[in-house]
Amino acid sequence: MTAAQELSHTGSFDWDVTGDAMFWSKESFRIFGYDASITPTLQLMLDRVHPDDLAFVRSAFDRAARDGQAFDIEHRLSMPDGSHGHLQVVAHVVADGPGQRRLVGALMDITTRKQAHAALARSEQRYRSLFRDIPVGLWQIEAQPLTAMLTELRGQGVDDLSAYISDHADWLERAKNTLVVEETNDHALQMFGATERRALLGPLPWVWKESPDTLRRALESRYRGDMLFQETTRLPTLDGRVIDVLLTVARPRTVDDLGIALISLVDLTERVRAQDMLQRLQADFAHAVRISMLGELTASIAHELNQPLAAIAINCQVSERWLNRPVPELDEVRDTNQRIAADAQRAVDIIGRIRGMALRRGPKYTLEPLALLIDEALVFLRREIQTRDVQVSLELAPGVRRVRADRVQLQQVIVNLVVNAMQQMEQTGSPERRITIRTNAPDAGTLHCAIEDSGPGIAPEHMDRVFQSFFTTKEGGMGMGLPICRSIIDAHDGRIEADNLSVHGGARFHFTLPSAGAAP
Ligand code: ADP
Repeated sequence: MTAAQELSHTGSFDWDVTGDAMFWSKESFRIFGYDASITPTLQLMLDRVHPDDLAFVRSAFDRAARDGQAFDIEHRLSMPDGSHGHLQVVAHVVADGPGQRRLVGALMDITTRKQAHAALARSEQRYRSLFRDIPVGLWQIEAQPLTAMLTELRGQGVDDLSAYISDHADWLERAKNTLVVEETNDHALQMFGATERRALLGPLPWVWKESPDTLRRALESRYRGDMLFQETTRLPTLDGRVIDVLLTVARPRTVDDLGIALISLVDLTERVRAQDMLQRLQADFAHAVRISMLGELTASIAHELNQPLAAIAINCQVSERWLNRPVPELDEVRDTNQRIAADAQRAVDIIGRIRGMALRRGPKYTLEPLALLIDEALVFLRREIQTRDVQVSLELAPGVRRVRADRVQLQQVIVNLVVNAMQQMEQTGSPERRITIRTNAPDAGTLHCAIEDSGPGIAPEHMDRVFQSFFTTKEGGMGMGLPICRSIIDAHDGRIEADNLSVHGGARFHFTLPSAGAAP
């Protein structure tokens, strides 16, 4: 009995109400912190009661002694060393005979239980205030009904939820209504322009109006058993806006047991707007650089245009001569006319390309053979290459390999890199001016293009900086060419880098692009 009392931190007492004698068990002495040699009394017990609790403890004992009333109370202890514990006292009156009454009771030291309880309450409070005050929209979802729907499907042997949803549109509708928001925080109210909490509680089928596929993918991820689902998406608000949000559904196992899931919503509208603006700015800048590049290449372009026009002029004369023969040579005239038409088309194409470069427009992605893009870019440069006495050789990977690209932007990159190479070679008076443009396919999913020159190469201390905005070593240089090349290649999901590994001993600028496969 003593051992059991010790184990359970439970003491006992037996008070002879009539004769005033009292018995304490050994554990009771320990709880009250008295030496086992003293004689227990009610007063000694009351001496250990926290002063604020003394009145109701005393009255419980009084009522028991006077009216025989049992009690079950909790009070704080106040120990001589200043510590405070918690005690639960349960007692009832036993009648020993006429006029003979004893109060028998148990004393339970509930300090640890109280502490654990308080800790739990504190942690719950922390969760509550985190939920309430975090500057992220939060929804607590009752997951059980949805889990039941998914379990039912599994029972029916459905493996591919995506296919199932495609065939059963009504199932997704039902899921929307089964997803019940149990709690929402203030930040979510603000995000959705809700004037009262009620508007964001319960099933919220309208939330998925703009992007039903997000819900669908979230459910599919749940079906696969993923713990986390995250996606940027667009959600309608209650005051008629549409917001860009990062939506995360978390189903931690511990929480899953409780049948809840948490959806967090981070408003990205501002960020998306800033990104849009940045993109527009970048596009404007790329455009400005392109225009200035076209300006520099005017001679080249004029020459390029001059060729077909001159050919047209000559062929017109030739044609006339054939016509002026005593017997007009109509077959020859026909041939010449065809050549004229072909040259006119060439001129039209060149003008089209210049217009493309000069026009300001958003990116337009098409599938393009990389070699063709390089060829066309060289159209802008042919004259420049000739007058600067540069030898350009192409070493292209066999086969027609295509990239998904904005034609104008990618040509801008190639023109830029070749012009840079030519300028460097000229500036430092390299005796032999050679450029090799090389493409290859390091693996099935990637194309690689390198522009290698015989110039001075990049100084080691500049290697890290050449792609930085406004870094230039040229007089009158803007230092925007390479940063724009990098942003263009980045936007094409590729990478551009520089080193001095050119076969001609100079600099090498090379970029990768995802391969879009061979032309059909
Ligand atoms: P800019 O041509 O106006 O200087 P870029 O961004 O095109 O701006 O180039 C930045 C710098 O990178 C150049 O000033 C030069 O120092 C270096 N650079 C670019 N291309 C080469 C190259 N082929 N060889 C050596 N240095 C180069």
